Amino acid sequence: MPRASLAGVTQIEFGALLDAIPEAVIVADHTSEIVYANTAVEGLLGWSPSELVGSSLHSIQPDRMHDAHDRGFRRYVSTGTKTLFDGPIHLPARRRDGTERDVELSLAEVADADGTPLVVGVLRGATEQVDLERHIAILRYLKATTAAHTRLWTKVDPSVVLQTLTDVLVDDFDAALARTWIHDPETNTLRLQTSGGITTRIKGSTREVIDIATSPAKVAVVAREREPFIRVGLGGNPAFDQEFVARERIVSVIALPLVAGDQLLGAMVGFFRHAIPDEVAETIGHLAALAAATINDARLVAQEREAREEADRARGHFELLARVSERLVSSLSAEVSAQSLVDTVVPDFADWCIVDLVTDGPSLRAIASRHADPRVADHIAELRATYPPAEDEEPPHPIHRAISEGETVWESVEDGDLAARARDPRHLELLRAVGIGSHVVVPLVGRGAVMGAISFVRSASRPPFETDDVATAEDITRRAALAIDNAQLYRSAEQAVALRDRFLAVASHELRTPLSVVRGHWELLGRRLAAEGSDPDTQRQQLEASVRRLGQGIDQLQRLVEDLLDADRLRGQAVDLKPTELDMTMVVRETIEDLHDPAMRDRVRTILPDEPVDGVWDRARLAQVIGNLIGNALKYSPDDGNVEVEVTTREDVVRIRVTDSGIGIAAEQLDAIFEPFTRAPNAAAQHYPGLGLGLAVSREIVMTMGGRMWAESPGEGRGSTFTIELPRRPAAAAEAERAAP
Ligand code: ADP
Repeated sequence: MPRASLAGVTQIEFGALLDAIPEAVIVADHTSEIVYANTAVEGLLGWSPSELVGSSLHSIQPDRMHDAHDRGFRRYVSTGTKTLFDGPIHLPARRRDGTERDVELSLAEVADADGTPLVVGVLRGATEQVDLERHIAILRYLKATTAAHTRLWTKVDPSVVLQTLTDVLVDDFDAALARTWIHDPETNTLRLQTSGGITTRIKGSTREVIDIATSPAKVAVVAREREPFIRVGLGGNPAFDQEFVARERIVSVIALPLVAGDQLLGAMVGFFRHAIPDEVAETIGHLAALAAATINDARLVAQEREAREEADRARGHFELLARVSERLVSSLSAEVSAQSLVDTVVPDFADWCIVDLVTDGPSLRAIASRHADPRVADHIAELRATYPPAEDEEPPHPIHRAISEGETVWESVEDGDLAARARDPRHLELLRAVGIGSHVVVPLVGRGAVMGAISFVRSASRPPFETDDVATAEDITRRAALAIDNAQLYRSAEQAVALRDRFLAVASHELRTPLSVVRGHWELLGRRLAAEGSDPDTQRQQLEASVRRLGQGIDQLQRLVEDLLDADRLRGQAVDLKPTELDMTMVVRETIEDLHDPAMRDRVRTILPDEPVDGVWDRARLAQVIGNLIGNALKYSPDDGNVEVEVTTREDVVRIRVTDSGIGIAAEQLDAIFEPFTRAPNAAAQHYPGLGLGLAVSREIVMTMGGRMWAESPGEGRGSTFTIELPRRPAAAAEAERAAP
């Protein structure tokens, strides 16, 4: 298309032409001096053309733009770079009265007659439409930010806020590029968080992490100085990638620190292809401040939530401990304490809790157990009855591990672990039915010794125990150990007191009976000796009877006193034995002969081997034990009841059995009667005299001799049999003999 030519149009005509158009036209020379202005300038900015001509372009620019203008203009003059010539740009202009208004500026280059370049600017007032759009944009921005603020309370996350800020800058404010960074106070760096708009790479700011103290990047500078940076005209500014500015036709930038109180939270930058008016910059500043406050809120909320969760956990821990402690001290029985403990921790803290105590033997004694699901109780009972935790299990059972190492065992349990533990298919079935996901087994330590362990078990359907839970389990167990230990101490103290009371009652009663017999016959004896004129034969018979009764009383007293002395002497000490070569049958015969009362003697039948039964024993102690058994057998039988003493031998063991047809012993008393001061209820109820010491002393002696002793009875009223088994020789002597050639 041929170009229309204006050649030949006179200057006057040209001026009239320019005055006729509605746009303001301003022409400046290479020094920024205004050489021409048309009349529309007055309508737009309030300056008359004559006022403007001869003055600098600064007159129609807000002060803050002067530097950028000068730089750009100088560059244009020296290098011909025309940053702003590609299309209309929006920027603020200064009116004559000093106020600002937005204008749309298009630039063109002409030359005067000498060929000196002149810059022509055509200015149009930004239309109301533009203003309206901007207001709508601001409203949209406010709405979006408010929405982001609301979102915080459901999803507390600073990245959501920054993404919103970025989106709003790009979508609602037409930023060509918007980016946000988050501040890491540890390293004092900015980490790129969001980026929106053009996806072009920007030289110098593609690094994800920017060091605030040293980086020359503008975003680092605003973060460092905590001052906003707003600039229209970026051409030639070394802080920005010029290649990017030119390519993307970037006109203005806003870089802001994100600050809440005195805390730097991050920074944001927006690049625009138009000049951002002041009130828009101000709005962006407010919204950045709002974003910063929101991020700060988010952080505070997160911190608060964390602190609350922590406090909840701690409160849960203490509440549980308080409940456990309260229940533990409410009883002085180990079983009751343990049961209330497991009732407290199940189901809130664990699904299954079991308290085991070590015993004298290899097995454990479960004193309390509870599972959250009552249907599992049967499985547990079968598990414990059929497959009790054994010390020698491989892999070692966690309870035995905790007990032997004295340390908490804390682990999660996989099906494979159960399979490894199971001794047979039924065992595995039971382990699976109980459902073990994780467990904490804590040893019960009382006064330096491991008394047992408490196992806390969670099923696989529940989160496993964590570090906090282990601390809770250990606290609970420490308290339980104290309570159980106290209960046991209390029980033995109670037993000791009861024992002492029983001893005092029994001893005073038992000693009084033979004493009054002795005293009565002694008085009788005295009276009879003083009596005169009676028949000497009768007197002699009476004297003999009295002497016999005296002897019996003295025997009984002596037995009682000896038992008492023995019981006291033997408490915790080994019996001092003086073994010699003996014939057991002789000892039995002599013991029977030693009975003072011939009527008693006559009631005892013996079944003895024909041959002597030789061995090495302490004669006095042996006689004491046998005498004790025969004495009891006679005492606890009717007056016409017979007593049988049988001696048998088997290899190196001699067995003595004393059987009577007396009051018998209930099954549950067969062991108890060997405890000091313990008498079966039937003996006490029928007023048989006795201290309950003889058997305890006897068993102590027999055990020291390397033998054993026990009682059997078909039941009350049906007689009893007491058996002693003794090695023929003390262990040391037998050993020496065997070693001899
Ligand atoms: P004591 O005879 O002085 O009571 P022991 O220690 O000798 O004390 O016996 C303890 C208890 O054992 C007796 O009180 C009695 O209850 C029971 N006992 C002992 N021997 C017999 C027996 N032959 N028949 C029935 N009960 C017996």
